[in-house]
Amino acid sequence: MSAIERIQCLIIGSGPAGYTAAIYAARADMKPVLYEGLQPGGQLTTTNEVENFPGYRDGVTGPEMMIELKEQAQRFETDVRPGFIDRVDFSGDVHKCWSEDGTEIHADTVIISTGASAKYLGLESEQKYLELGGGVSACAVCDGFFYRGHETVIVGAGDSACEEAHYLSKLCTKVTMLVRKEEFRASKIMAERVRKTENIEILYNTETKEVLGDGQLVTGVKAINNKTNEEIEIPCTGFFVAIGHKPNTDIFKEFLKLDETGYIEYEKPGSSYTNVEGVFVAGDAADKTYRQAVTAAGTGCMAALDAERYLSAKH
Ligand code: NDP
Repeated sequence: MSAIERIQCLIIGSGPAGYTAAIYAARADMKPVLYEGLQPGGQLTTTNEVENFPGYRDGVTGPEMMIELKEQAQRFETDVRPGFIDRVDFSGDVHKCWSEDGTEIHADTVIISTGASAKYLGLESEQKYLELGGGVSACAVCDGFFYRGHETVIVGAGDSACEEAHYLSKLCTKVTMLVRKEEFRASKIMAERVRKTENIEILYNTETKEVLGDGQLVTGVKAINNKTNEEIEIPCTGFFVAIGHKPNTDIFKEFLKLDETGYIEYEKPGSSYTNVEGVFVAGDAADKTYRQAVTAAGTGCMAALDAERYLSAKH
């Protein structure tokens, strides 16, 4: 059996929240250990161009930005490790965590930055153009800009879909919204705003059958009316999926307060405290509203400062 590793600060997850927390924790001499998780670099590694992160005047690709963040964290001697934490026990004074290779870590503080994963429809054609960077996206605020003056299609009927459709309507000539039921799930006010927007066409009872393309770029969407079985083709260059996110918080549910979707709840508003002392959260694992790289980085900074103050008060 391997020895137990005792550390001051464990950071779980390697998106902008995790690396920013690492930069601050390392500079505060907390000697952080960061586990990269199942998707090193997080959601940004599936994004092409990032143009809205302050400081990158000419933009940067998602993967490049994550390499820079990682190297910045390593410059201050963050111990960045491949692999993931698959079990925790937050029931005692010491926070016990286990990695998938069996390493047992006892950490004074834990910063959770495991993020969330966008849900996709799972169609082969959708995944193909997503991987090619050819016009499939799950984030209108990130990618809408690239479709200025174009026609786009968005799937979903919740608050996110309404917000994103409205955002796209200001950039695109036309937005077609595919709603699978005959009503929205979104709040009345959000749905009403979409209904009143002239260049948004809403197709109810409509499901996506296939994302059409020329082998490189999206050219349209084949959809079907689930009441009449009528099929239609909608020309577009961008296909946006806004059917919800799943926060990566399953391993914490026994110990932390989560909301009904699984987002970690903050114990104190305006801080990164969870309901367990010494355990802090940053980024999309607790954020269903903003979900931006820059907000994740900001909360990563907050978590490291909160962890540092917690440790100082204890010793
Ligand atoms: P939701 O889970 O609320 O909505 C998901 C939507 O996607 C539903 O309309 C659902 O349809 C649809 N959907 C799911 N799977 C499919 C599928 N396979 N094909 C077609 N459609 C599908 O997720 P949101 O991300 O919209 O919102 C999450 C939470 O965040 C909510 O609590 C929301 O209120 C909140 N939020 C608040 C905002 C604000 O207040 N500004 C902004 C954004 C989010 P169906 O209805 O048929 O099940």
